[in-house]
Amino acid sequence: MAVVLITGCSSGIGRAMADAFKAAGHEVWATARKTPDVKALAAAGFRAVELDVNDSAALERLRAELEQHDKGLDVLINNAGYGGIGPLLDGGVDGMRRQFETNVFSIVGVTGALFPLLRQNKGMVVNIGSVSGVLVTPFAGAYCASKAAVHAMSDALRMELAPFGMHVMEVQPGAIDTHFAKNASHEAEQIIHEGSAWWPLREGIRARANASQTNPTPASDFARDVLNAVQSAKPPRLLRSGNGSRVLPLMELLLSKGLLEKILSNRFKLNQTL
Ligand code: NAP
Repeated sequence: MAVVLITGCSSGIGRAMADAFKAAGHEVWATARKTPDVKALAAAGFRAVELDVNDSAALERLRAELEQHDKGLDVLINNAGYGGIGPLLDGGVDGMRRQFETNVFSIVGVTGALFPLLRQNKGMVVNIGSVSGVLVTPFAGAYCASKAAVHAMSDALRMELAPFGMHVMEVQPGAIDTHFAKNASHEAEQIIHEGSAWWPLREGIRARANASQTNPTPASDFARDVLNAVQSAKPPRLLRSGNGSRVLPLMELLLSKGLLEKILSNRFKLNQTL
């Protein structure tokens, strides 16, 4: 039985992974940032802890609790994240900073705080990236950049943790059936406004916010793939799972940039002059 900690377990992929690891007999520390979600996780039988991944005091409390538990940590899954959708320049520096705080900087913060416990158990770090870090789309510049950063950090961290007998796995989900698109749409609606140069293209922005829900894979199927990969004798460096997770990177690899941009511009209504 491994000690597994997962961030962002209030819904979606995080909750599905928590369920899958618990059903497989592991001790799951399921974290969420809102008190009612933590209560629901506790009621479901998890070791539930409140953690906003950007809150260093909460992170310190979690580290102390795990230390007291005295079993170390075998698997850390950095899952918490959201899609900062909208024109890059409308989101601006603030939008970019907020996106990177949650999707990128928190991975360094959480992994750094829990490193001694992971080291103790020669543990594994699993970072939830995205195919959006490989195939970049318009109206998701901040999100795609954050997931490209997750890819780069995972590669660097893997080499830096190897001397301690530790492993880093990056997971690139395709379209998974979660609250992601609903939350991304909410983010997009905060940015879409009549004064924007991209106001005439707002349907394209909305289409991008919903893109992750095109024929999505059930979160439980995705979670089973992650569980199997983590439990395998030789865990992979990169796991791709879910609808589009293989074909989208293949398109990026095989199609010319010009053709790819044409396809994406058509899909997200950018094939016009403003
Ligand atoms: P989701 O249902 O919206 O879940 C996102 C989770 O992240 C929620 O638990 C949310 O908590 C949590 N979260 C966001 N900001 C947080 C913060 N500051 N501190 C702690 N928790 C925070 O969407 P999901 O699809 O499961 O997303 C999980 C991960 O998968 C994300 O990293 C996402 O980028 C990635 N991903 C998803 C897809 C997809 O198609 N669904 C595809 C590629 C990658 P609240 O409920 O409190 O907001």
